[in-house]
Amino acid sequence: MTEHFIQCENLVKIFQVAGIEMIALQGLNLTIDKGELVGLIGASGSGKSTLMNILGGLDRPTAGKIRVDGNDLLKMPDNQLNKYRREKVGFVWQQSTRNLVPYLNAIRNVMLPMTLNGVTGKEKQRRAEELLDIVGLSQRKNHHLPELSGGEQQRVAIAVALANNPTLLLADEPTGEVDSATAKTIYRTFQTLSRELNITTLIVSHDRTISKHVDRVVGIRDGMLASETIRQMVDSSPTTNSDGSVTEEEEHKYAELVVLDKAGRIHVPHEYLEQFDIRGHAQLEITEDGILIRQAAQTVTEQVQVESGEGGGNGMMPRMGHAGAITVKREKSKGGLFNRFRRNKEE
Ligand code: ADP
Ligand code: MG
Repeated sequence: MTEHFIQCENLVKIFQVAGIEMIALQGLNLTIDKGELVGLIGASGSGKSTLMNILGGLDRPTAGKIRVDGNDLLKMPDNQLNKYRREKVGFVWQQSTRNLVPYLNAIRNVMLPMTLNGVTGKEKQRRAEELLDIVGLSQRKNHHLPELSGGEQQRVAIAVALANNPTLLLADEPTGEVDSATAKTIYRTFQTLSRELNITTLIVSHDRTISKHVDRVVGIRDGMLASETIRQMVDSSPTTNSDGSVTEEEEHKYAELVVLDKAGRIHVPHEYLEQFDIRGHAQLEITEDGILIRQAAQTVTEQVQVESGEGGGNGMMPRMGHAGAITVKREKSKGGLFNRFRRNKEE
């Protein structure tokens, strides 16, 4: 089996906060190939930053498998993980200032991580100029940060992230604080890097239109990979310009597909389930077009435990322990919803 550049299998991350477990990733599966430019979308709290931090070696997963460029990020000793993070990963954050020193000009910002890594002299200068050229800021290399626009500062931050020649570039909402025109220039910068340096790049975004700017978009929901947006088709349609010339316009179509895992599980969006009031159980029906997920017919069974002691009143109070548990059958008739309770002896 060929190894992917990034391979996450059943990745789990649990945070302990004041004794309470918070599951940020619950069995995430994801593979990314070398040189791919991938968008990662998902609602706030879905686990995007947690995944980025783990991929970047800033944090460790609780369980599962994760390999990046042949490195086992779960089992690696701390000193090797630190080395991996310093040498293999570049980070770009939402606030570009997190990567930048405000009183240095653009080129000195790019040279700083190289100095810390022992690169000196002409080589340092040459590489910093080359990186600023790739991000389109050659003309601005001697400008100090306050003289640069938000988008330009973010592009300096990208050059800084590349200073140590990483193989993986992780950008956590890099367009979160800029307008859409600036976001486009930032996306274009990532495209150039992916094309010219073959650097594997993951960009977290809230913005679904990111699908236009990357090779692939993966969606996470509740700490699991839930969907992939696939570019389905490219049409060329000629358009006539005002001067009478004709240009071929490429038209891309996108489809958001749910991910089906090896065990046959799919993640159905909450809003779909709510729309059809599907909870707890569902029925699958084979139709001519495929598989239909329906609200479970007529009977939904829920186990509840009920107080059966003298003080139990109507016998419907919750009770700990196994004795006297009853099954509540909530039955639905054609005319509407009513509840009927039946008592089962639990041995
Ligand atoms: P996203 O980036 O998609 O908004 P996060 O990865 O930041 O989501 O968070 C996923 C979940 O994990 C959230 O519920 C968040 O509260 C929790 N979480 C993230 N980091 C920590 C942490 N350091 N300690 C405790 N809980 C955390
Ligand atoms: Mg986040």
